[in-house]
Amino acid sequence: MTAHDYTLIAASQSPDDALNEVRHLVDGVWIDSADGATFERQSPAHGTLVSRIAKGGAAETEAAIAAARKAFDAGLWSDLSGKDRATILLKVADMIDENRGRIARLEVLESGKPISQAEGEIEGAADLWRYAASLARTLHGDSHNTLGKDMLGVVLKEPIGVVSIICPWNFPFLIVSQKLPYALAAGCTAVVKPSELTPSTTAILGELLIEAGIPAGVVNIVQGFGDPVGSIMTTHEDVDMVSFTGSTAVGKAIEKATADTLKKVSSELGGKNPQVLFPDADLDSAIDAIVFGIYFNAGECCNSGSRIIVHEDIAEEVTRRVVELSREVPFGDPLNPDTKVGAIIHQSHFDKISSYVEDAVAAGAKVEIGGAPLSVDGMDGAFFAPTVVSNLTPDMPIAREEVFGPVLSVLTFKTMDQALDLANGASYGLSAGVWSENIHTCLEFSRRVQAGTVWTNTWMDGYPEMPFGGVKESGQGRELGRYGLEEFLEVKTVQMRIGRTRANWI
Ligand code: NDP
Repeated sequence: MTAHDYTLIAASQSPDDALNEVRHLVDGVWIDSADGATFERQSPAHGTLVSRIAKGGAAETEAAIAAARKAFDAGLWSDLSGKDRATILLKVADMIDENRGRIARLEVLESGKPISQAEGEIEGAADLWRYAASLARTLHGDSHNTLGKDMLGVVLKEPIGVVSIICPWNFPFLIVSQKLPYALAAGCTAVVKPSELTPSTTAILGELLIEAGIPAGVVNIVQGFGDPVGSIMTTHEDVDMVSFTGSTAVGKAIEKATADTLKKVSSELGGKNPQVLFPDADLDSAIDAIVFGIYFNAGECCNSGSRIIVHEDIAEEVTRRVVELSREVPFGDPLNPDTKVGAIIHQSHFDKISSYVEDAVAAGAKVEIGGAPLSVDGMDGAFFAPTVVSNLTPDMPIAREEVFGPVLSVLTFKTMDQALDLANGASYGLSAGVWSENIHTCLEFSRRVQAGTVWTNTWMDGYPEMPFGGVKESGQGRELGRYGLEEFLEVKTVQMRIGRTRANWI
């Protein structure tokens, strides 16, 4: 295949931004690592140096946890009224809007994602802070007025305490904004660790929080790696809860690590999300959604629609049209506003994507398009071609494991039961979609598919109001919506006797 088979956006500008220096935020103060250690991050699209980052060790991680504990125990945040907490969250939302361009640019340079998408994500993140502010003001428990005339029961909702928030690299600013404002709305304090690949925008968030007036110690940020920073954040006895987004393998390791101190764990993990197409589907909409679902964020997306399960009668047409539309998706320089798909996050991840395709081909799969590196004029980064793979069996790794790249697997079915067997056959259960003009087909599929989110005749819509999370190996708990707030709350039962009506036991 030649470059003419794709829509490529050549380098439009070379980033000559000043080196971004990133430090830890501990107890309201920006600090270097005690041992002076640092690491660097290059742009995965341009190959240029973007950031130099303090590399966290035990000293700063423990100091951050101590600060969060002290702030929580002193009630610096949890004792504020919902109104006062909401006021600060709203200020942060406004400042995110004011700093959108700056945040988006760093997000592009560290993650390789396209600028127009990054700007949309930062705008969406501000909306999450605003929505969380509304939850801070409306948070409440229950009352039970039906326990008899001498008893009133009250259920209090209290912040769970100190939360460790551990984030991945694929949506750095958006994912921290799916967690932190909800934790803060609940009254918790936090220690945040971004991925070492995308550290900078979380540090900007720290700046905005300080400027908005959050008390020192309420939000602490430690930069660095899973070992030792993430590991200490998940085992330390002063941490009450871990909110994690990342791979299922690390999610399982965190479940084990937290067992000794019995922390609550909320986890958003991987997915192998199917879009199922019945013969009566509106193919124009479905094909666009398939292309969006697999190439958005270069497929480095927990919600990636990484497999389609297509009725045999339309499989040939759907595959042909998906391939044709794949050629039109603009891949290339993420700083160009026309680009829809940028670079892969780093070379070892690129190699992992390639090996899934190579192994599938060796096992008899057919590459309909792509499957190889893309050469983009003027760019040094690793770009993976839009890829569609057919002639698969459901047991092949490419058909059931998370590739996390722009690689679509095509499977076929004859009956609803077969479609559901394929959809539910993976160990994951994050999201699923169904395409049919028949409401009965959509409803039956929605009820029987094992997934935290089901889209009917659409893909990957999301709202701060709507809960998000997975079943099976896609994680535990929910983010967003009021369920996302509940994750950070503890329930306390208060039972109050009215009058001296208690009968003595002895
Ligand atoms: P990882 O699971 O490798 O890492 C996620 C975060 O956990 C990083 O900050 C990482 O630190 C940290 N970490 C690694 N090891 C440990 C440990 N032992 N203890 C505590 N923290 C640790 O995921 P990626 O960053 O590579 O992200 C990609 C993965 O995330 C994909 O598999 C994807 O499916 C999943 N994901 C799921 C989402 C969902 O909502 N379901 C959303 C986004 C991604 P370090 O800096 O060292 O990497």
